[in-house]
Amino acid sequence: MNDTPKLTPAELAVSLFCQGLRLDSSCRTESDARPLSPRRAGLGSGIELVIPGAGKDIWINAPLTERFAANSPYLLQRIPDGYVVVQQGHEHSWPVLLPPTPHWYQARTTSGKPMSRIGILQGTCLGIYIGKRCAFWQMSPAMQCHFCATGINVGVHEEAEKTVAEVVETVRAARRESGITFVHFNSGYQEGNDIAQLLPFVEAVKNEVGALVGVQCIPPPDPEEYAPLLRLGVDHFSLCYELQDSEYFARYLPGKAKHIGQKRFLGALEFLCRRMPRATVSGEIIAGLEPTSKTLEAIDYITDQGAFPTVCIFRPLAGSVLQDKEPPGYAEIVAILRYMALTCMRKNILVGLAPNIEVSLVMTPDDARYLLPRDFVWYLHHSKLKLLKWLVRPYFSWKMRKRR
Ligand code: SF4
Repeated sequence: MNDTPKLTPAELAVSLFCQGLRLDSSCRTESDARPLSPRRAGLGSGIELVIPGAGKDIWINAPLTERFAANSPYLLQRIPDGYVVVQQGHEHSWPVLLPPTPHWYQARTTSGKPMSRIGILQGTCLGIYIGKRCAFWQMSPAMQCHFCATGINVGVHEEAEKTVAEVVETVRAARRESGITFVHFNSGYQEGNDIAQLLPFVEAVKNEVGALVGVQCIPPPDPEEYAPLLRLGVDHFSLCYELQDSEYFARYLPGKAKHIGQKRFLGALEFLCRRMPRATVSGEIIAGLEPTSKTLEAIDYITDQGAFPTVCIFRPLAGSVLQDKEPPGYAEIVAILRYMALTCMRKNILVGLAPNIEVSLVMTPDDARYLLPRDFVWYLHHSKLKLLKWLVRPYFSWKMRKRR
């Protein structure tokens, strides 16, 4: 008997993040879905899904291989005309789409490397890791962030060293065949070379392909070192300081605490917010590892600077220090995400204006809005976003032009 109300697409996404997904034997993920191997950023190892929604589709990388997912009430089933997620114990089901593997994943760069080892699609964005394996993973004792599994992926599932030419070829293919508009560069900790290593890649993508470019790297001691990236016209900076509470920061991010310090992340965020347009800098935080009150404090702090929060729902990834920890509860995460969406609406932080940017590993305020009741204020904000999105199209076309 169906005794619980059916979750909306956004609520289902949160529930999948918190409880994971199981695959029914009817699924043909090898041919129907993007590859499932654990990749990049140490945040996602699952299956990419799109949950169609009224107003907005929600993209999600649903946990699949982690221990907790084995007990998930959600089952992915193949039916004659597609796929559904079925909630076992109830009668609810939701149609979902599996984004296919793009053709360019099979292609090779001129140097002979598979393009899928240079960059991968996360949602509709192209993610590229630059540099060697994060230095926190190579220290003795290891100092990696406790939620991260990047160190076991780079060099195994992904090329450890990439040339500018290989990246340009891959971005060009992804732009042409997958219609990507946004390239996200991430570099782990490169011991002070972080920005210098990123520069030639950002410059080449801007000059030779043309795309919106986002950067996530460890902040330099002097934020003025961002100047060359600002001159190149980076469109988005993400500061992954993860946890607001300094004790939790030190406990779960030992390398960042010892070698960088939380203050440097916050100083960089404030510096970049002064130099960049409103809502083009983000603070990436993890929900479910520190007390909820601290996550809400982080949301207040980030939005006070004119940045927007991106909330990673803690996922105990296989291979990470925290692989045996329980994922957070649904109610806690929904409360955090609603607070984030409301705070952004209240402070007029407009997220979702750029074309074709859907992320699958984190929840943005644009996704979290769909967890809120649709009242007058909601529709007002929604209409404003829609109108602005249309008005700023020429601006983004100009930003995505090939410069050379
Ligand atoms: S900085 Fe932390 S999260 Fe980023 S790659 Fe290194 S260990 Fe992983």
